[in-house]
Amino acid sequence: MSFKKLGLIEPLLLAIQELGYKEPTTIQQRAIPLVMQKKDIFATAQTGTGKTAAFSLPMIQRFRKNNAQNIKALILSPTRELAVQIEQDIKNYAKHLDIKTLLLVSGKDINTQRKNIRAGVDIIIATPGRMVEMIEQNTDLSHLEIFVLDEADRMLDMGFVKEIRKIHPVLPKNHQTLLFSATFSDKVRKLSKLILKKPVFIETSKKNSTVDTINQIAYMVDTDKKAPLCAYLIGSRNFEQVLVFTKTKQSADFLVDELKKDGLKVGVIHGDKTKANRLKTLTQFREGKIKVLVATDIASRGLDIEELPYVINYELPSVPEDYVHRVGRTGRAGRTGEAISLIDIYEKYDIKDIEKVIGQKIPKETVEGFEPDPNIRRKDVDEVKLKSEHKKTDKKRPAKKVYKKVNSTKKRKTTKRDAK
Ligand code: AMP
Repeated sequence: MSFKKLGLIEPLLLAIQELGYKEPTTIQQRAIPLVMQKKDIFATAQTGTGKTAAFSLPMIQRFRKNNAQNIKALILSPTRELAVQIEQDIKNYAKHLDIKTLLLVSGKDINTQRKNIRAGVDIIIATPGRMVEMIEQNTDLSHLEIFVLDEADRMLDMGFVKEIRKIHPVLPKNHQTLLFSATFSDKVRKLSKLILKKPVFIETSKKNSTVDTINQIAYMVDTDKKAPLCAYLIGSRNFEQVLVFTKTKQSADFLVDELKKDGLKVGVIHGDKTKANRLKTLTQFREGKIKVLVATDIASRGLDIEELPYVINYELPSVPEDYVHRVGRTGRAGRTGEAISLIDIYEKYDIKDIEKVIGQKIPKETVEGFEPDPNIRRKDVDEVKLKSEHKKTDKKRPAKKVYKKVNSTKKRKTTKRDAK
């Protein structure tokens, strides 16, 4: 299958060629003809599958002669960072055509954004909150033809259902809706019933599955050794670019301080950082000025870093589905990647929940010098409760787990911390 066979016009084919895309990805092969036929779509596509091109290429083709007379398409994104990336992708695809895009995100002056709309625009890429504000200021969407909800599951997890419910009714009756979601949660299904008309379902990967090209591994370690282990893995394996996930802002800040003590160049992205700061950090990471980027789930959503080879889960996410999003940052568009999870005694049941969601076992090992202390026991009330919950579903659990050791012949490499 070639892009040409999908019916794309020459200026788009040229742009795609310049970007180095050889052939359409599965989601592109399936979605592009449907978008051209003006069908509603419900697609479960993970990050890295090429979904942005899947909805934007046919959109650009359809609106290339609109001359920015009126707003023809609205793309909603859960985060500002993802919105910025979508706009950049569209600009790249439309570089040989006359298409006007506009980014509507908070943090930018609303009056300037209003003026930009008046100046003419074909495609708006917006975060839900700012789009509602613009609608309240009488932005005219009466000519809209395509409404895209990108990463809809994340938008709902972030509590944007109210905004979507405000935006949807002001759109013209006969618009086309394209809903993309990495996971197939109940919330997304409910929303799809509200906003989609006779949608065509596209499932490009197994439900909630992780990308096949990613090597996944979990290292068992005590809580207080996680930060040193993280620094050791990055240092000893010479990771050039690694994204490290934490569950909270507090642990992100803590980890950054710890990694800096080991002499690593680290940046952090979380909800307390200003948008300008987040974008600056992301640019530094992309340019290789920062080797390690520590991020929380929400802040990291939508980051598109090409060929990201490593992801470390310093802490497992609260929601198992977020594991899929996190590891989707690596192994993008068919490339190989490695996702490492650091698991302490408090997370040994969480990883089972993740394994159920992804439908595969994650190998568990220890690293020499960082083996968990067998005398440390988790003795809180949750332990008893969790144990009994997991026993119900986990009939064949072996009595005692023996973890494979890695680096058994190698000595642990010393770090700057050891020298202190
Ligand atoms: P997305 O899932 O839209 O975030 O895309 C993930 C990455 O894949 C982006 O860096 C795109 O530039 C890239 N990409 C999209 N389509 C293709 C393709 N057909 N061939 C190679 N790379 C692609």
